[in-house]
Amino acid sequence: MKKNDLIPLTITSATAEGSGVGRTADGMAVFVPLSAIGDELTVRVLKVKKTYAFGKIEDILTPSPARITPDCACFSQCGGCAWRHITYAEECRVKQQRVRDAVERVGGIQTVFRPMIACERTDRYRNKAQFPVGKDRDGKTQIGFYAFHSHRIIDCADCALQPEQFADVIRVTRDFVNTYDVSVYDESTGKGSLRHLYIRHAEVTDELMVCYVVNGGGLKHEDVLLQALRSQLPNLKTVIFNSNREKTNVVLGSKNRVAFGDGFIEDVLCGKIFRISPFSFWQVNRAQAEKLYAKAREYAALTGREHVLDLYCGTGTIGLTMADSCASLIGVEIIADAVRDAEQNALRNGVKNARFLCADAPAAAEQLRQEGIAPDVVILDPPRKGCGEALVKTVAKMSPSRVVYVSCDPATLARDLKYFAENGYQTAEVTPCDMFSRTAHVESVALLRRD
Ligand code: SAH
Repeated sequence: MKKNDLIPLTITSATAEGSGVGRTADGMAVFVPLSAIGDELTVRVLKVKKTYAFGKIEDILTPSPARITPDCACFSQCGGCAWRHITYAEECRVKQQRVRDAVERVGGIQTVFRPMIACERTDRYRNKAQFPVGKDRDGKTQIGFYAFHSHRIIDCADCALQPEQFADVIRVTRDFVNTYDVSVYDESTGKGSLRHLYIRHAEVTDELMVCYVVNGGGLKHEDVLLQALRSQLPNLKTVIFNSNREKTNVVLGSKNRVAFGDGFIEDVLCGKIFRISPFSFWQVNRAQAEKLYAKAREYAALTGREHVLDLYCGTGTIGLTMADSCASLIGVEIIADAVRDAEQNALRNGVKNARFLCADAPAAAEQLRQEGIAPDVVILDPPRKGCGEALVKTVAKMSPSRVVYVSCDPATLARDLKYFAENGYQTAEVTPCDMFSRTAHVESVALLRRD
C-alpha cells in the first residue's frame, strides 16, 4: 500500500478521537476520519506507517445504517464534534463499548457495566466556550475554533453545542474588533492584543460571564465594548480581562482584572448554589453533571456516619452535594481559586462539616494518611492523566470501604482500576455517562469495594 492508492475498506471500529478504523486484507489498520462503523468505502491512502495507515473517504459504496446528515456548517472543519454524522443511539453504543474495552482489555478487569447515562439534550448543552480570535489573510476577523490538530481558526458564528446567546457575544465582540480595528494576537510573532474570548453561562440562574484574554493589561476603547455588552446582553453579570503575555498554547494567563460585576457567576447543581470564577473548574454539561453526581452519590451509599475524602474536588461540587449525608468532608484541589470557591460554596450552602486543602492530591492524601485520617469513602475525579499508582496505593492504605472513581478517560481509568485490584480493591461496577455528546469524550463512574 502506498500514498494515493484507492482501497476498499469496511469500517469496523472507532478510535478514542472518534475516527473510524478498518482493516485491510493483510490486517493493517487504516484510520479514516468522519467514517462510521458499518460503512463500506473506497478510501484514498494519505500516509502509510509500518503497521497502520491514514486515509480519507473517496467514495461511500454502502453507508453505515447509523449514518445521518450532519446539521452544522462547521462540522468536519472545526475540531469540536467528532460525530454529527451518526445517530445518537449509535454514538452511545460506541462510547459504551469503548469504556468496556478499556476496562476489560487494558485493565484486565471483569465487572458489571451499567447502560450509559445518555443525554436528554445533545445540542446546546455546553456552558463554557473559549474562542480564539484572529484575522484571516484578507484581514477579516475570525472568532471560532481551531481546526482539528491545528491552530488555523475556523470562523463559527453559532456552535450547535453552545447556548444561542454565545453567538450574540461573538457578534458584539466581532463588531467591536472591526469598528475599532482592535489588533488580534498573532501566535507566530507574539504581537497583537486580543487572544481569546472566553464565555461562561449559568444555566439555572441565567447569569453570563464574559472574559477577554489579552496580551497586555486591557483593550483600547474597552469602555465602548463594555457598554455594548451591557446594553445587548441583559443577563450579563460580569466582565473580566485576563492578561496573558506568554508565548504559549495555554489560554488563560495568571492575572484577572474585573471590569464589570463581581468577577464570578453562580449556578445551581443538585440543589446547591456554586460560585464559578474564570479559573475554577465547573462541569461543562450541568444537566448531565447532576446525573453523574447522583450516580456517584448512590455508589457512596452514605448513611450520615461516614468520613469522606474528595480528591481533585474543583470547587467542591461532588463532596458538597453529599455533605448533608456524611459526618465530615475533606476536599483536595490544586488550583487556589477553586479552593477559595469551594470554601465560599460551603459557607453559601450552610455546610459546616467540610474543609478544603489546596494541594497536589497524591501528596495531600499521603500527608492525611500519615496524620491518621481514615476516610470511609474516597471520591476520585482526576483530570485525564488519572490518579497513578502512588495515589492508588495511598488510598488503599487508608482502607476506605468504598472508592467512587469518576473518570474522563477510559484508558487511565482502566489502568488505575488494575492498580486498585493489585492493592485489595475490586471494581464492583462501572457506569459510563455521556457528558459531551457529539464529541468522542466519554465519562465513567466506577464503584470499588475493599476485598
Ligand atoms: N470534582 C470536580 C472537579 C473535577 S476536574 C467537579 O466535578 O467539578 C479535576 C480537578 O482536578 C480540577 O479542578 C483540577 O484543577 C484538579 N487537579 C488537577 N491536578 C491536580 C492535582 N495534582 N492535585 C489536585 N487537584 C488537581
